[in-house]
This record gives sequence, C-alpha cells and structure tokens, in this order.
Amino acid sequence: MSMFGQVFVKDNKYKLKGDFHHLTPCTPIRDADSGFKLLGVTNPRDMTYMHSYGGEAVFFESLSKGKLLATRCDQFECESKGSVYIPFRIHCPDCLAKNTVIDLTDVARKTARVHTFMVCERSGAFNMLDTPIKFINIEFDGVATILMSYLSIGEPDMQMRVVPIFRTSGPTFTILDLSWVPEGTREDQLPEGFSF
Ligand SMILES: [Zn+2]
Repeated sequence: MSMFGQVFVKDNKYKLKGDFHHLTPCTPIRDADSGFKLLGVTNPRDMTYMHSYGGEAVFFESLSKGKLLATRCDQFECESKGSVYIPFRIHCPDCLAKNTVIDLTDVARKTARVHTFMVCERSGAFNMLDTPIKFINIEFDGVATILMSYLSIGEPDMQMRVVPIFRTSGPTFTILDLSWVPEGTREDQLPEGFSF
C-alpha cells in the first residue's frame, strides 16, 4: 500500500519513509480528427520535494502555536541596528550578522494595517486558497519591512486595521498558516482550524 513520503532527521541525516514517487501509467494521446491515430503519450511525473526551512524553521513552527516571529539586528556597529524585519530575515541585509529572533505577535495585534492590497479572481496551479484571494501587504509600527499575506474575512481597504490569525489546529507548517481578519472579528467567525 502506498503512503505519503515522510522525512525526519536523525544523526544529521535525512531518514525517509513511504513513497517519494508513484508509478502512474502513460495513456495514449490520439487524434480525434483523424481516425484516432496515435500522436503520443502522457508522461505522468509525480515526486515529493524535500524543502528545508533552515534558519526560518522556527518562524513556521511558531505560526502553528499562534505566534508571529520577526527578527532584529542587534549589532552595535551596524548602521541599521535596531531595525525589525518581517518577513523573517535570518541575517541583517546591511551587516550580514545573525539577527535576533523577536516575538511580534502583540505588535501585530495592536498596530497591523493594510498598506496596500490586490484581489485576484484567478490563481495559478496548486493554489490552496479560496478565490477571489485578497492579498494584503501589511505594515506594523516600528518595523522596517512590509509583510505579504491574505485576508480571510471581509474586504480589504487602505490603512484598514487587521489582526493576525493562526492555523493552530491541523497546521500545514507553511505561510498559509498565517492569515488576517479585520479588527473586531469574533473568534466564532474565523475559518476552520484558525484562532487568534
Ligand atoms: Zn545589521
């Protein structure tokens, strides 16, 4: 019986379990306009890609626990000392030293605003979000960068106050575990699996 490929690390090595590729039969491609003569075959390819998060792993782990992490440069000699970054930057772009990880959840709850937004009626392949997708760029007090995410409830508006929600039940450990709703949204209105 086949099972999804699963990976863990032991002794600093990847350990694999399950199936990482699946044999799917080729099927003929035929010409319906010309007596169904053979033109070619489909060639199915299905594989499981192992995507390492490296130093960003703690960010994705924290989303599943209802926490939004950012980073800050604390290097005394850096011109950008004290700059806070989210998306999570492992290293300072100016001095290249390793940043300090900080908890931005409270700042996000109290100060997050829609910087700008776009609504997409159609999506690309493998999209997991309901359409139309309301992409929002979010600004925070005291943060040097803008975060791209999506609004789960309501319609976006410029400078609208939003608060973060987290997929703490059945997390996917991807960026989709973080979403936003207008300030004042009630817990019972949140999408399934999400909490404040
Ligand atoms: Zn720096």
